[in-house]
Amino acid sequence: MAGLLDGRVALVTGASRGIGAAVARRLAAEGAEIVAIARTQGALEELDDQVRAAGGKPLVLVPEDLRNFDAIDKIAGAIFHRWGRLDILIGNAGAIGGGLSPVAHHAPDDWEEAFAVNLTANWRLIRACDPLLRMAEAGKAMFTTSGVAQGIHPFWGPYAASKAALETMVKTWAAEVVNTTQLRINLVNPGAVATRMRAIAFPGEDQTKLAQPDDVAGTFLSLCLPGCGHHGEVILAG
Ligand code: NAP
Repeated sequence: MAGLLDGRVALVTGASRGIGAAVARRLAAEGAEIVAIARTQGALEELDDQVRAAGGKPLVLVPEDLRNFDAIDKIAGAIFHRWGRLDILIGNAGAIGGGLSPVAHHAPDDWEEAFAVNLTANWRLIRACDPLLRMAEAGKAMFTTSGVAQGIHPFWGPYAASKAALETMVKTWAAEVVNTTQLRINLVNPGAVATRMRAIAFPGEDQTKLAQPDDVAGTFLSLCLPGCGHHGEVILAG
């Protein structure tokens, strides 16, 4: 590894497994200090063990439910007190909203979970972290979207609607800051990746034939590099 992110501070949500864990490992391998958020403390501790074993800096573990929106403000405050800035924000945590089902059949809790995790938590992250990212030399933010955010996809109702709203929100934020800051803001569509969420959507699928989380982590890394000029785009991983 080349130490491409030496001295950078990155916040990664959904870091306990799947794509978020792979991205955290990749960024840490390039020297970044990672604030890793997810609910599952044991999985975050395992990630920390993996990063340290590979020579990375110890992670800052934040076992938190992102639907606890006020906690997001506190995390941003703690980042300010420790580092005085945030270099990289990766809003990756996602919820599929109960799995595939007709719009008329979704349970209210599943609908609310999809919008809370996929949309509102990311808005709260933007709201809390925008000032910290502006204090960075070359702040970068990216959010994990999905191919179902574009077009019409029967049975993907709350997930597709919340990801479409996420794309609109992130592109709006990108357009607002483009002329006045160094901030670069994008979305990443990872494609089909072998994770727990994918297994819920497609039970019985042979996941060995899919891309693995580590295969898409490089796309996130490329958008974190100081010289990266992409802005307001949806980048397809791979
Ligand atoms: P995953 O392995 O199931 O990971 C989801 C992550 O989100 C976990 O770390 C989970 O952690 C976290 N999370 C979920 N609800 C949370 C909450 N309320 N509070 C905090 N963290 C929460 O799935 P994945 O495929 O890696 O998903 C990562 C992103 O990729 C998602 O945004 C997903 O929509 C997107 N995506 C995936 C695919 C694919 O094919 N896999 C395709 C398109 C888009 P805890 O359970 O520990 O909280």
